[in-house]
Amino acid sequence: MGPQRAELLQKELNIFTFNDLLHYFPFRHVDKTKLTPIGEINLNDEYVQVAGILAPLEQMGEKRGRRLTSYLQDKTGSLDLVWFQSINLIKKIVHPGQPYLVYGKVSFFMGKPQMVHPEMEPWDPEKLKGKDFLEPVYPSTEKLKTKNLGGRQVGKLTATLLQHLSERDIPENLPQPLREELKLIPRFPAYQQIHFPKNKEAYEAAVRRLKFEEIFFAQLRMNLLRSERHRFSKGVVFEKVGDLFNRFYSECLPFELTNAQKRVLKEIRIDTGRGKQMNRLLQGDVGSGKTVVALLCMLLAADNGYQSVLMAPTEILARQHFQGIKELLEPLPVTVAILTGTTKGKERRLLLEQLANGEINILIGTHAVIEDPVVFQNLGLVIIDEQHRFGVAQRARLWEKAIIPPHVLVMTATPIPRTLAMTAYGDLDYSVIDELPPGRKPIQTVHRLENDRSLVMDFLKAEIALGRQIYIIFPLIEESEKLDYENLMQGYDVVKTYFPEPQYWISMVHGKMPAHQKEENMRRFVVHDTQIMVSTTVIEVGVNVPNASVMLIESAEKFGLSQLHQLRGRVGRGAEKSYCILLSGKKLGNEARERMKIMTSTNNGFVIAEKDLELRGPGDIEGTRQSGVLSFKLADIVNDRAMVTAAKERCEQILKDDPDLSKSEHEVLKAFLRSQKGKTAWSKIS
Ligand code: ADP
Ligand code: MG
Repeated sequence: MGPQRAELLQKELNIFTFNDLLHYFPFRHVDKTKLTPIGEINLNDEYVQVAGILAPLEQMGEKRGRRLTSYLQDKTGSLDLVWFQSINLIKKIVHPGQPYLVYGKVSFFMGKPQMVHPEMEPWDPEKLKGKDFLEPVYPSTEKLKTKNLGGRQVGKLTATLLQHLSERDIPENLPQPLREELKLIPRFPAYQQIHFPKNKEAYEAAVRRLKFEEIFFAQLRMNLLRSERHRFSKGVVFEKVGDLFNRFYSECLPFELTNAQKRVLKEIRIDTGRGKQMNRLLQGDVGSGKTVVALLCMLLAADNGYQSVLMAPTEILARQHFQGIKELLEPLPVTVAILTGTTKGKERRLLLEQLANGEINILIGTHAVIEDPVVFQNLGLVIIDEQHRFGVAQRARLWEKAIIPPHVLVMTATPIPRTLAMTAYGDLDYSVIDELPPGRKPIQTVHRLENDRSLVMDFLKAEIALGRQIYIIFPLIEESEKLDYENLMQGYDVVKTYFPEPQYWISMVHGKMPAHQKEENMRRFVVHDTQIMVSTTVIEVGVNVPNASVMLIESAEKFGLSQLHQLRGRVGRGAEKSYCILLSGKKLGNEARERMKIMTSTNNGFVIAEKDLELRGPGDIEGTRQSGVLSFKLADIVNDRAMVTAAKERCEQILKDDPDLSKSEHEVLKAFLRSQKGKTAWSKIS
């Protein structure tokens, strides 16, 4: 291929190498091995191939309505043919009265089958004999078509490439026993058959084989990382449970831990006592009590002479953690400090000094804590709250903060569906708090329409009269902050007309507000100076006001499921019965309607996460795209869940039995991983 066309392939289809071309898969196949009798064409047929005698051509219509018609006749019936373009050319090249082989998409017009702009060639029964495979159809672009690089040409290139390849170029990479057990076809024929299958079954077998390979190796890589860490990493040792931990547990903890919290703590204690680095993902639904687990871990670190850090995604959250933790730790001899982007000047200098000389035991903050000038004396534990807000690169910087890498605990309330978690986070160990603290009353969720607004407002008033507090949330509609702001302001004005001062007081928080003002408004709500909090989604994660009993979400149809669930999690934190009201316009799309239905029917974050994945697909789930693991070419983590599970089980079996892949039957795995090195950007997740 000449340089110009090659460049086009690169630009338009991202095809740079033979390997890229090989992995440019057809999106469907057409069956040109069969002839359909015309009389048997029915509404279910999409593309058909027929043979028959061409009837005389007839030209009709004027100018734009001009068209050429004819029909093809076989023993069983007739098929109408229509052309709107190149009429003069068609008239020249086709010969009525002659037999033709015709291929194309059928449609039905007035109950009769017809084909518009059919593919035609003179009919010769010998011709079909040479064709023993389905013809692939590749996606292409208009630009490529004009340069003679349409789908058909791409197919020709691929066919040529495959002719030049042999099993040696595409060696098997799955162990024989595994392939046999799962009935997977060998690798080289799979590549041939995904492009040029003999029939539908052969195509499906090829897809299944290549999908499995894709999922299996993604998991194998992750699991190897984990297994290497378990065996070879160095970690600081938290060998004892000391005074701080014990005193806190018996004197300061205002409640009994749930069994799930205890279990997770135990998992973490074992992990941090072994001399290997811990890298653990802790999932727990909103309100499941992750903070206190984090706190106990930090006390464990302090008991063993190590500093720890708790990072939150926003300033508000960091401050809230700081205040809560400081209060709880008041009676104990530990020093807690906060560092955020707004910590400046002398205060900041002093703080950095105290971190470097070890005076500070526990540091709470935003991503400011991973900035260059922050030096620790002996950092032993890093806890990241709401992990999906931190980029991979940001997290990697933690490694530079200590000689032996600190233990890492990543906490998230965004439930990640199991299938996704085990694929995307396979290199992390995994704990889950699957139990809410006792005494919580389930939140009642309802969906109301704009017409019901005044009734809804009356309900809010009644709750406020009972001494409760209310959240009213407005969506982030546009990318533009300005629009959001205007939208929020309009909403605020409406809320004000229903809730006038001085009977009611309203706090407002939004992204554009200076930090001190945000904090002041938040504080007033926390201390019940105001009864209503009007906000955009900045309060989405982590905020804890147990007296708030109603979450009203405006334009609820504009939120995603996991976001709605997060917002709902802001209420139901105290002893009172709580409500979540989803207010929306009357006209809802199908998906929005489905979201409302799911929200009103379950409070379970994991169920919601699964549904979210089904509705949106994995690409949209925050924080997973960057991990790279989910950008599969063939596999689809939603529909191929069973395969993901199967691959996971096989991976674990293999590594348990042979952690280095040093057995001869696993040589193929090792060889393949080696050949792939550097092709995938595997950064550690945390
Ligand atoms: P999240 O997991 O969403 O971060 P939090 O840590 O903010 O949840 O906890 C939510 C609320 O539950 C807090 O007020 C916390 O004090 C309380 N809590 C946590 N664990 C328990 C428990 N075992 N029993 C009773 N209340 C608890
Ligand atoms: Mg939290």
